[in-house]
Amino acid sequence: MVIQKICCIGAGYVGGPTCSVMALKCPDIEITVVDLSKDRIAQWNSNEKLPIFEPGLMEIVQQCRGRNLFFSTDIVSAIRKADLIFISVNTPTKTFGMGKGRAADLKYVEGAARMIAENAEGNKIVVEKSTVPVRAAESIMNILKANNKPNSSYQILSNPEFLAEGTAVQDLLHADRVLIGGEETAEGQEAVRQLSWVYEHWIPSSKVVTMNTWSSELSKLAANAFLAQRISSINSLSAVCEATGADVSEVARAVGLDTRIGPKFLQASVGFGGSCFQKDILNLVYICECLNLPHVAAYWQQVIDMNEYQKSRFAEKVVSSLFNTVTDKRIAVLGFAFKKNTGDTRESPAIYVSTHLLAEGAHLHIYDPKVEPHQIVDDLNSSTMDPDIVNRNVVIHSDAYSATKNTHALIVCTEWDEFVTLDYEKIYADMMKPAYIFDGRKILDHDFLQNLGFHVQTIGKKMHR
Ligand code: NAD
Repeated sequence: MVIQKICCIGAGYVGGPTCSVMALKCPDIEITVVDLSKDRIAQWNSNEKLPIFEPGLMEIVQQCRGRNLFFSTDIVSAIRKADLIFISVNTPTKTFGMGKGRAADLKYVEGAARMIAENAEGNKIVVEKSTVPVRAAESIMNILKANNKPNSSYQILSNPEFLAEGTAVQDLLHADRVLIGGEETAEGQEAVRQLSWVYEHWIPSSKVVTMNTWSSELSKLAANAFLAQRISSINSLSAVCEATGADVSEVARAVGLDTRIGPKFLQASVGFGGSCFQKDILNLVYICECLNLPHVAAYWQQVIDMNEYQKSRFAEKVVSSLFNTVTDKRIAVLGFAFKKNTGDTRESPAIYVSTHLLAEGAHLHIYDPKVEPHQIVDDLNSSTMDPDIVNRNVVIHSDAYSATKNTHALIVCTEWDEFVTLDYEKIYADMMKPAYIFDGRKILDHDFLQNLGFHVQTIGKKMHR
């Protein structure tokens, strides 16, 4: 079999960009991305705005859409005609039951597997693209086998995605590695070869790494756990720096120059966010607990606990620096996305910091270049106890200058490039005095700002004003 048609179930931050790049690089393969959400599919088919913002994505979609890339809500047809089906649905943490807030909620994966079981005929390769607990492929196979039609057969592969939001297109075009896990049977290895062939349209074969299914599933959780661990490690040291006079940027530089350690992911900040790090580590912790490995569970839990501590330490620093009260103070929050170059706010530290300040009585003036105002309001409403607070005390702005005007303090929560080049002289002139800046991303020129008259606080450095 040669793969001619691919279906991807789930048109989100992973399914959309992954299939767009695949369609660009595999003009001989027809790719249909399907979703339950009519709105999402309509946006993928629009020329104005895609449902997610990723640099370079719109150009690729416009080049491929209608040629060999299709977005559709007709899930059944797409499953029927596909040789290979990606499952790229969301895998949040559970909100009910014993695993609440910790275990992966596989209801969407199960839903997708059932749709495949009910509609597929012939030989299909089913690929886990979603991040799943180790041995999830076994559960998917059970669903598929239970509904097995006489003329259908399946191979299940694990092919976790390593893209980062904000750089998804570049990450997909120039992946460090593509991981494919499969069964060690002849059929399993043939399916691995088929999927490798698809990727090798643009990824060098040396970077397509194959292994057994369980190793591949666990490697994705492990990779996210390691990345988050580096951030929590440097953030833990940032607290020591603030207390002693060491500078965390200098420490990170010194540590990162060791080639065994390397410089990436050593940027101290207000904390990590995003839909993946926290949920994947919680999932790893839960798996370890279920496997009766409490010490391993406790080890990884610390990465999350340190992140929570960092966010609360930063929020408390804002309050304590402002004479220990922010009641009725106006505070500008610059950046609401969890990182730059995305409009995604899932688990964004900005939500935590804003909620903390609202609870202390602050009035917030929020600006983010890519996050929709209704998203900010929804996020705050679901985090604060009293939705009236958001109505009363939050104003969303369409630029940084109006957000900061007449405020007592400015907080940088996201490292957007445009915040680096703002006219801080003008901002200082328009703010209340004394004017405070809290740089939660360490992107601003602190000496310059202090010379302008600002009181500056940041992460991992003792500031004298
Ligand atoms: P998402 O929420 O943006 O998209 C998932 C989509 O799946 C939604 O549009 C939803 O409507 C759709 N869906 C759910 N059930 C469906 C069904 N039965 N049929 C059709 N559509 C269905 O999620 P995402 O951010 O794209 O993440 C997908 C997976 O990839 C998750 O497991 C995540 O952990 C993993 N992942 C995410 C990232 C990231 O940066 N976002 C990176 C790597 C891996």
